[in-house]
Amino acid sequence: MKKHNFSAGPCILPQEVFKEASQAILDFNGSGLSILEISHRSSDFVSVMEEARNLALELLDLQDKGYKALFLQGGASTQFLMTAYNLLEKKAAYLNTGTWSTKAIKEAKLFGEVVEVASSKDKNFSYIPKSFSIPNDADYFHCTSNNTIFGTQIKEFPSTSKPLVCDMSSDIFSRELDFSKFDLIYAGAQKNMGPAGTTLVVIKENILGKVTRDIPSMMSYATHIGKDSMFNTPAVYAVYVSLLTLRWIKAKGGIKAMEELNNKKAELLYAEIDRNPLFKGFAAKEDRSPMNATFNLSDESHKETFDKLWKEAGVNGLNGHRSVGGYRASMYNALPIESVQVVVDAMQELERKI
Ligand SMILES: *Cc1c(COP(=O)(O)O)cnc(C)c1O
Repeated sequence: MKKHNFSAGPCILPQEVFKEASQAILDFNGSGLSILEISHRSSDFVSVMEEARNLALELLDLQDKGYKALFLQGGASTQFLMTAYNLLEKKAAYLNTGTWSTKAIKEAKLFGEVVEVASSKDKNFSYIPKSFSIPNDADYFHCTSNNTIFGTQIKEFPSTSKPLVCDMSSDIFSRELDFSKFDLIYAGAQKNMGPAGTTLVVIKENILGKVTRDIPSMMSYATHIGKDSMFNTPAVYAVYVSLLTLRWIKAKGGIKAMEELNNKKAELLYAEIDRNPLFKGFAAKEDRSPMNATFNLSDESHKETFDKLWKEAGVNGLNGHRSVGGYRASMYNALPIESVQVVVDAMQELERKI
C-alpha cells in the first residue's frame, strides 16, 4: 500500500526523483559507473554541483545579484555556529521562535554578545513575536522562517539595515519571497529539498570579511566560495538528489507553483481543524505554517481511536513532536493534496464514530 508520508524530516520527495535517483546508483548518465563510485572531481559530478548551485539561485531569483550558493555538510546545526563564526564580531540580534532558534542562539553566544530581541517562549512558541527592535550596533539579525516543531511561520520579515540571516530549513522553495532581502539563507536539505547529508547556504558575498578572528578553513564561507563548494569531498549523492528535486520544482512551475499547491493543502487541513470540534489547532492562526500543521485532540481519550483510523488509511509520520504533543502534519512540496484529504477523511470519520 502506498503510504501518505507526513514525516517532518527526512521526509517525502517526489516519486519521479526517487526513480531517477535509483537509476543513477546503477548507472549514472550512461557512464557504466554508479554515482556512488565516481570521483567528485569527475566532469560528470562537477557539472552536477554547478547545475545545483545555479538552479538554487535561479529558483530564488538571486542570479547575478552578488550571491553564491554552496552545498555544505554538517546540517543546519553546523550553520548555527558557522554564521556566528563568520559574521559575529561584537553583538548579534536573534529572534527566538522555537527549538531551532534557541539552538542557534546557544551557538552564537560562543562568539560574542547575543541580544534576544523577542521570544515566544512564554506561550510555548505558539506564535511569532511581531514588535521588537533590532539594536543599531548589531552585526546581523538572525531568524527562523518556519518553526518545524511548533508549526509557525514568519509571514513578514523585519526591514532592517543589518545583514538578514535566516534559517529556512523547513520552508525553502515553498513560497515566494523577495529573497534579495536576505544576506544569508541556510537550509538543511532533508526538509524540502533532498535527502539528509547536505545543507544549502546562499550567501551575499559582501557580508564576509568583517570579523577579525581567525576562522578554521572548514568553518569559513570564504573557503567554500573560493572552491565552488568543493574544498573537501561534498556529499555527492545528497547533492545529486537535491539537484533532481530542484529540477522537479522548476519543471512544475517553480516556487510560485509550489506555493499555490502548498496553500491549497494547508487550507484544506486547517479548515477541518477549525471546523471539527474534536480538534484544536496549536499555533496562533495568523502565524500558521503551511508546511507543518500542529494540532491536538480536544479530548485526549480519543487518541487510540484516531491513531488507528489514520494508520489504517496508510498515513505515516503524523505524531506530533514531544514538545507540542498531539499531531503534526508536515506538508512539504512533494506531498500531494490527495494525502491531505486522507487525513481530513480520518478526522471526519472520528467525528462519525464517537
Ligand atoms: C531540522 C531543522 C534544523 C536542524 O537541521 P539538521 O540538518 O538536523 O542540523 C534546523 N532548523 C530548522 C528550522 C529545522 O527544521
